[in-house]
Amino acid sequence: MATGQASTNGHVGHRPVEDVIVIGSGPAGFTAGLYTARANLNPLLITGNDYGGQVSITYEVENYPGFPESLSGPELVEKMKLQAEKFGTRVEFDYVSEIDVESHPFVVRTANGKEYVTKSIILATGARPRYLEIPGEQEYTGKGVSYCATCDGFFFRGKDVIVVGGGDSAVEEALFLTKFASRVRVLHRRDQLRASKILQDRAFSNEKIEFVWNTVVNEVLGDAEGKVRGVVIQNTETGVVSELQTDGVFIFVGHLPNNQLLQEKFELDEDGHLIVDTKMRTNVPGVFAAGEIMDKVFKQVATSVGQGCAAAMQTERWLADFEAHGFEGMEDPRVFRLPQQRVTV
Ligand SMILES: Cc1cc2nc3c(=O)[nH]c(=O)nc-3n(C[C@H](O)[C@H](O)[C@H](O)COP(=O)(O)OP(=O)(O)OC[C@H]3O[C@@H](n4cnc5c(N)ncnc54)[C@H](O)[C@@H]3O)c2cc1C
Repeated sequence: MATGQASTNGHVGHRPVEDVIVIGSGPAGFTAGLYTARANLNPLLITGNDYGGQVSITYEVENYPGFPESLSGPELVEKMKLQAEKFGTRVEFDYVSEIDVESHPFVVRTANGKEYVTKSIILATGARPRYLEIPGEQEYTGKGVSYCATCDGFFFRGKDVIVVGGGDSAVEEALFLTKFASRVRVLHRRDQLRASKILQDRAFSNEKIEFVWNTVVNEVLGDAEGKVRGVVIQNTETGVVSELQTDGVFIFVGHLPNNQLLQEKFELDEDGHLIVDTKMRTNVPGVFAAGEIMDKVFKQVATSVGQGCAAAMQTERWLADFEAHGFEGMEDPRVFRLPQQRVTV
């Protein structure tokens, strides 16, 4: 057996070797937990600091199939957790501080000082929108402030909204919002967009879209009912501060994958998302990924759930192959490079 590999009795030294550890408690993580639990892999799911992930800060989810009456983000997360636990997923409230994938089995270390040994890992650490970090932003999130037009555009039928940002996402989402809103003003801190030419052309020719150049948002203002009523803006050239009335503030100033664990170990794209193949495999055999850590295109609960399911099914197949043939005889053509001298467990 190669250095550091798990013995077949499922222990390294005195420590049990997990079949699979799922990292992340968003929709992708809980779905991966559910599927690996139903495959009798007894998964351990480590939640991270943001229990439930991004959907847990969502006021109302209307576009997740199966819930025609819609439900709140926290309710949906709780249902996902219960379902995963029902089949045996063990949920640990902890944060993964380090993963060692340089030898096998892998080692997962946590902020609470725990150390786990595992044959496979499903990374579902998701992403987070880049915030403006201005007064009122957090307070009115879900009450007029949004980071997702696909999710929340519907609530702004016939209303006035602003979009903050000037890249592809901001312009795409502004175009999407014109299906619902009566007026969409795009506020950008520069005097020209960063978005691609084709998107710019579409936006400039859309009658519902107006541009407010050289402008930053300093504060989100609310009304007596606790909903957004406007923003305080500032002209970056003149410094003049003024108020702008609006019903909704859509912020698209960047999306950051939670890749802190992955630097230098995994192949990431130029925006820091994990690169996976069509079987959800990362560049490290035995490590799979799902959800917004690898997806910068769709970014929905439904797509993250689908990717969590796919990663779990693939993990199950990989483990079966590994148990039957070891690394050398596996179908996975990639070579797992075990360091000759290194022993991590
Ligand atoms: C305000 C808002 C509203 C939205 N509304 C909708 C909607 O109505 N409908 C819809 O379909 N989509 C909506 N979305 C998008 C949807 O929430 C995301 O697509 C989805 O949550 C992504 O799921 P995920 O599991 O990939 O990651 P996330 O939800 O981002 O979850 C990531 C998880 O990983 C954990 N994690 C991160 N790092 C670590 C670590 N080191 N150790 C352990 N755990 C870690 C976090 O704690 C978190 O639990 C919304 C997003 C936002 C921000």
